[in-house]
Amino acid sequence: MTQYLPSFIMVSLMMLAGLCSSPLVELGLVNPTATPDPYAHYRAALQPRFRNDIETLPPLPRYHITVQLDESQSQLSGVTRITIPNPTAEVVLRLYPNLSHYNGSLSISQAQINQIPVAVTPMDADSSVVRLLVPPQANGTLLDMAVVDLTFSVELGRVPNRDGSYTLFGWDGATLSLPGFYPTLAVQEAGQWVVEQPAAHCDVLFNEVALYQLDITLPQELIAVASGVTVNLINNPNQTRTWQITGGPLRDMTVMAGPFQALSETGAGATVTSYYLPGNESGARDALSHATAALRLYSDLYGAYPYTELDIVEAPLNRYGMEYTGLVMIGEDVYHQDRKYLRFLVAHEVAHQWWYAVVGNNPYQHPWLDEGLTEYSAFDYYRGVYGQARAEELLTGHWYIPFDQAMQGGIDGQVDRPAREFDPTSYQLLVYAKAALFFNALRAELGEETYRQVIQTYYTESRYKLVTPEQFLAIAERVSGQNLDHLTDKGLR
Ligand SMILES: [Zn+2]
Repeated sequence: MTQYLPSFIMVSLMMLAGLCSSPLVELGLVNPTATPDPYAHYRAALQPRFRNDIETLPPLPRYHITVQLDESQSQLSGVTRITIPNPTAEVVLRLYPNLSHYNGSLSISQAQINQIPVAVTPMDADSSVVRLLVPPQANGTLLDMAVVDLTFSVELGRVPNRDGSYTLFGWDGATLSLPGFYPTLAVQEAGQWVVEQPAAHCDVLFNEVALYQLDITLPQELIAVASGVTVNLINNPNQTRTWQITGGPLRDMTVMAGPFQALSETGAGATVTSYYLPGNESGARDALSHATAALRLYSDLYGAYPYTELDIVEAPLNRYGMEYTGLVMIGEDVYHQDRKYLRFLVAHEVAHQWWYAVVGNNPYQHPWLDEGLTEYSAFDYYRGVYGQARAEELLTGHWYIPFDQAMQGGIDGQVDRPAREFDPTSYQLLVYAKAALFFNALRAELGEETYRQVIQTYYTESRYKLVTPEQFLAIAERVSGQNLDHLTDKGLR
């Protein structure tokens, strides 16, 4: 049985061996400049050796969001400034709370671009996508920067229809869930804005990475858990508290709030914190230990986790889980009566930090790419922590048998399809199980060492980007030197 060597031991060995030859580079210290570092506070969310990552990317959009929860706790209101480098003639925003299965309502009451008032035009019936025209300059040229100022409010309902749903927005008991609560820049693919609505059974957030600063004011009894890091807490005289949160590059800025308690541990250079509601400490301790072990293992196998924090949060998701950047929601049922699902669920959701948060893809068109690889990452977790036999059991019980039964039930079909072409059952069986089996077949075809190189290269070359299946397969063929058409024909098409 293979035992996993924790990464902190590896780091200690490297340091003993004198491999940290350039301490300044290792620490990610920015070269001194004559002007203040404009990104200093975003870098707080990055581990020291990744603090120059911002400079390796094209100029990123920046969000500065300031919101507060009203006294009745039914509305979140505030302003956001989105600074967009090299804007096109229009800015398209997603208002995720307006999706019918989110059951929220986001309205923009004022909009300006570069201090000129502009109209907000809905692009769909739900107003979940809106368009703003960028005022041209007097000479007709486009600006090199658009500063979009929005005043907005979000009505917070109760989390709708919890059965079988991965989406949650609003209140459930004392817990407030706020994925995608702010106007979010839509993605452009090949110069076209992606404006399609997500299917109810697929992941909703489809974002480019950006730099985020959030000031959120909540009643003092609520603990805010968010992507990025909290850099300051201000206790206001009116029994509220302002959480100043920052980070980037982040694919989203997701917030949960509630009367949480917390347990923390360090792993892979990050602080892992398990947030739970009173009474669920035992489950939270299990979630923390699996999350920390998974973070270490995936960091060693795929490439380092760049962020300083990872939060695991008990959420009103029954026995489902849901991934956001630096924040993983785990359904409350696995903290008690469904504890047997906790290990797999945490292993899956933590892997999404690699295959969603750092390496993104279009979840509406190619959901299998991140879900299949995330699902199969749990095989690595089981093998690394419990040994080959347990991993083989997972392979058989979790993917082979369900997929065999699906085939007998006539559910087999193409994996690489848009999410809306599946129903919830075929989505689960093909986008998860059959796609996981594709990665298993890829490993068998390439051999352990080459498969590892493919995954590591994919991660390293795709960090903070949005990738397509074609790009993944091109990397796999380039690194392995093999034509993989026979595998993709059988496993994906
Ligand atoms: Zn997933």
